[in-house]
Amino acid sequence: MIRNPIPWPNGAKCAVAITFDMDADSLIHIARPEDSHRRLYPTSMGRYGPNVAIPRILDTYARLGLKQSFFIPGWCLEHYPAAVEAILKGGHEIGHHGWIHEDPIATYGSQREPFERALDAHKSICGKIPAGYRAPVYNITDEVVDLMLEHGMRYDSSLMGDDIPHALQNARGQLYEMPVHWGTDDWPPFAHYDEIGYLMPVKSPSEGLAGFWQEFDAQYEAGGFFMLIVHPFLTGRLARWRLVEQWIESTLETKDVWFTTLGGIADHMDTLVATGAWSPSIERLPYFDMPPAQT
Ligand SMILES: [Zn+2]
Repeated sequence: MIRNPIPWPNGAKCAVAITFDMDADSLIHIARPEDSHRRLYPTSMGRYGPNVAIPRILDTYARLGLKQSFFIPGWCLEHYPAAVEAILKGGHEIGHHGWIHEDPIATYGSQREPFERALDAHKSICGKIPAGYRAPVYNITDEVVDLMLEHGMRYDSSLMGDDIPHALQNARGQLYEMPVHWGTDDWPPFAHYDEIGYLMPVKSPSEGLAGFWQEFDAQYEAGGFFMLIVHPFLTGRLARWRLVEQWIESTLETKDVWFTTLGGIADHMDTLVATGAWSPSIERLPYFDMPPAQT
């Protein structure tokens, strides 16, 4: 069972979002700022995302009539206009994912500048402030939550405190949270990236994806929410995406699911709250004012 299940539109049993973080080569530039321009291999590995994987992923989504959410650093919005234009043309959602994938913990106290620089890129390229945010390496902080509230954003997707969407509240206001988890993230099974400290044994496509489908089965049975947090340069590679595409096709045929964007879920939650049909559980922030081990 899950706590406080959300009644999904048209009686669907489970909401499904296959969300992509289009980090491209921002990862190597932020990790190795002194010489990333000379590091051609990791740059090429990242560029595969917008240049090769995004067209493939968008083809699948268009063929199956799906709209999904993409989280893109502001620097990548500016450097990969063709991929971004194709995502927007397909009617998909683009969320905030930092400026050049800077870690909000590493830049704590000075997040306003990169956060707002990214917002400016969203405004000029996507024509609006994004509704949602996913922190680079999930490292959202109180500073970022306050910036999101200040700029009228609606949801975060970086925390792991529940199975299904809920609300986050601090003294300044409230946001929705679309919870993530490492068990539905493609970094552990597929990332091998020495330059940024990951030396994972790369799993075969079917083995690496198998855990995701088990996560879906449990969420489906519970009437919950299944979200993948995946990267075009990892899961958008040919063999892996072929299997994901086959899974989407068979799920659409055999299960009662609602494929949607995270913004679509936020809209749905607003409607449920406004009509009194359901109300979200609330997680209050901050968890702590001081590091507990120092008190
Ligand atoms: Zn990322």
